[in-house]
Amino acid sequence: MRIALFGGTFDPVHLGHLAVARAAAEKFDLGRIYFAPADLPPHKQKRRLTHFQHRYAMLALATADDSRFVPSLLDAHTGQPNYSIETVRQLKSTLKKSDKLYFLIGIDAFKDISTWHKPVELLSEVEFIVVSRPGFSLAEVGRWLPKSLRPTDLMLRAMRRQQADGTIALMGATIHLLGEVRERVSSTQIRAAAHKSVKQLSRYVPPLVAEYIKKEHLYAGSIAAERDGAGSDKMLSFEEARPQGHAGRSHKNG
Ligand code: ATP
Ligand code: MG
Repeated sequence: MRIALFGGTFDPVHLGHLAVARAAAEKFDLGRIYFAPADLPPHKQKRRLTHFQHRYAMLALATADDSRFVPSLLDAHTGQPNYSIETVRQLKSTLKKSDKLYFLIGIDAFKDISTWHKPVELLSEVEFIVVSRPGFSLAEVGRWLPKSLRPTDLMLRAMRRQQADGTIALMGATIHLLGEVRERVSSTQIRAAAHKSVKQLSRYVPPLVAEYIKKEHLYAGSIAAERDGAGSDKMLSFEEARPQGHAGRSHKNG
């Protein structure tokens, strides 16, 4: 089976994430996509994230009606930052020989790949599917590769002329481009709009996720909280509340 790992903070999951997963599943004939929220994403340090359990619960609601989509605990709490290279190796060790794993990522996240932990190893470990996102150009993908993998200027120029759907095959990295996703939505936007009605929120997140945001009072005061580096801390529905401030540390990326 062809399988993809789709990591992120998913705070909250939204229709853009689902559109990305659907487009990748169709184009690459994926039988399963693991949506893996990161407990401690190394590259999101500025604001405190919503508790992992809430983000996971929303993913479970959002993925329930597609048999290919599976919420994953791969990047659940370990006390360490979730480095993608380790997640990928861990997942691969559970797969069959006949399975093939892809790493699914939006272009805005891929842009920073060379600052991640062991990016060259990660790129050689798994083929990437890089998906378009409004405001970012897939034509620049080659330029953002780690230096040792980066094509020459001449090659980069030629690549830029190619259309945004194809495969870049290099020594040590294979990157598939998927240019058809044009969902202009982000989790940041939804956090800022969380005071709106379930009906209004349902334009950006699945209705069950909108209901969940409201009943758990997630993202209340989100704009001020993001500015001050603090987030909603409400944890009444889960038994085990964890110590605070776990997402405020400084780590390397990736
Ligand atoms: P935030 O605004 O908090 O950064 P986000 O909407 O970017 O949230 P993330 O959890 O950061 O969501 O993203 C997880 C993955 O999904 C990343 O690879 C990101 O590039 C991709 N992604 C998110 N939204 C979109 C979108 N609208 N189109 C394409 N890719 C997306
Ligand atoms: Mg993001």
